[in-house]
Amino acid sequence: MSDLATDRNIDRSKMQVSEEIAVEISGMNKWFGAFHVLRDIDLTVYEGERIVIAGPSGSGKSTLIRCINALEEHQKGKIVVDGTVLSNDLKNIDRIRSEVGMVFQHFNLFPHLTILENCTLAPIWVRKVPRREAVETAMHFLEKVKIPEQANKYPGQLSGGQQQRVAIARSLCMMPKIMLFDEPTSALDPEMIKEVLDTMIELAEEGMTMLCVTHEMGFARQVANRVIFMDQGQIVEQNEPEEFFNNPKSERTKLFLSQIL
Ligand code: ADP
Ligand code: MG
Repeated sequence: MSDLATDRNIDRSKMQVSEEIAVEISGMNKWFGAFHVLRDIDLTVYEGERIVIAGPSGSGKSTLIRCINALEEHQKGKIVVDGTVLSNDLKNIDRIRSEVGMVFQHFNLFPHLTILENCTLAPIWVRKVPRREAVETAMHFLEKVKIPEQANKYPGQLSGGQQQRVAIARSLCMMPKIMLFDEPTSALDPEMIKEVLDTMIELAEEGMTMLCVTHEMGFARQVANRVIFMDQGQIVEQNEPEEFFNNPKSERTKLFLSQIL
């Protein structure tokens, strides 16, 4: 595991946290059948925050962020995303999905569509953006993630790192207010991890609100303003990175850190 996420100088001055609330979760519980997967989750995310969610495998990290863009339903408590209460109302779900971008471990690009088509599909069909404008926006974000020359290729022709950068560009094409990342570098070879982290760091520098499930503790130290530790479906502890790593409070956090650092 790399200690530093990047060799670049990171400009934290632009990473300002606002007083506006991006996501508010209160008393949230979720079950898969009889299995109580998330317990009494309370979490307020302010605009501009970069939150890293850490914890052992199976602790509920993916399920928590999937609840935030309604990929999973919750059964108890409340989730409010940018002022919209998450209910099972389909209209709300469309709105949430276009405001909350999500990047997965395995990229989830459409293999039969070109890179450009992957990036224009949802803007055209969900956001009803005219095709020409959608193409312009897509090229803008492909340039931003530094692969405009790949626009007419298919996902299978790209490296894992390039595919993940396309997945990030595709999310950005929907102009999300919040970005969720679920272990975006876990499926990548080491030399590709940095290029994806660099893209995420640039997003952070532009003030994007980000919730990132990741094992990249270098990224957590350098970029996050808050680290959340989950275990067995609960938020056990949260703190700014310095305190989280140097002075963990709970025994479960100490044990986890001793295993990964
Ligand atoms: P993490 O991302 O922290 O590894 P997950 O959120 O993926 O954890 O999973 C939390 C727990 O919920 C695990 O025990 C997992 O097996 C279980 N789980 C996840 N998805 C489902 C599902 N669709 N149905 C039943 N159990 C699930
Ligand atoms: Mg997971």
